[in-house]
Amino acid sequence: MTEVLIHPSVDQGVKKGQPGFSGGTLRCSCASDKVEVKVESNVAHNHACGCTKCWKPEGAAFSVIGVVPRDKVSVMAHEDKLAVVDEKATIQRHACNICGVHLYGRIENKDHPFYGLDFIHVELSNKTGWEEPRFAAFVSSIIEGGGALPEQMDGVRARLGELGLTPYDCLNPTLMDAISTHVAKRSGVLK
Ligand SMILES: [Zn+2]
Ligand SMILES: [Zn+2]
Repeated sequence: MTEVLIHPSVDQGVKKGQPGFSGGTLRCSCASDKVEVKVESNVAHNHACGCTKCWKPEGAAFSVIGVVPRDKVSVMAHEDKLAVVDEKATIQRHACNICGVHLYGRIENKDHPFYGLDFIHVELSNKTGWEEPRFAAFVSSIIEGGGALPEQMDGVRARLGELGLTPYDCLNPTLMDAISTHVAKRSGVLK
């Protein structure tokens, strides 16, 4: 049984971000003509994600993903190489059609609780200082993605705990509460 690697940016320990960090440029993995996306904001709710949709580097069981305001995201170079991975998905993941890296994910449904936020992978930037990942979401899903065998899951959760990435099998309580608050306000249960 091979060891489960969480993600290259955290496998040696989680590096804390710098307060006041103001963003950087994300670049795809192509050797030349890289797609470039400028992000003029720090990331928030950064986390390890075990779902099968988020882009992850080779050999990693998890992606690392967080959100930024969509008006702080702009494509600076080679936009022609970007294509949406799955038009029907809630999050429209804009990926480089040559190297496959996802540059940003965007929600176009204005009723969605996370409308206005874009999902990004800060490892695509060569800057350090981005807010560090603080929890792990959709942990059980790594079984579906082939990242771990069912019998390895106790070890995976223990490792996540050791890294300070509290494991959840959906999102963390902060984000689950934000979704439910949005739904309750729309239905009128919450005034
Ligand atoms: Zn590329
Ligand atoms: Zn995900």
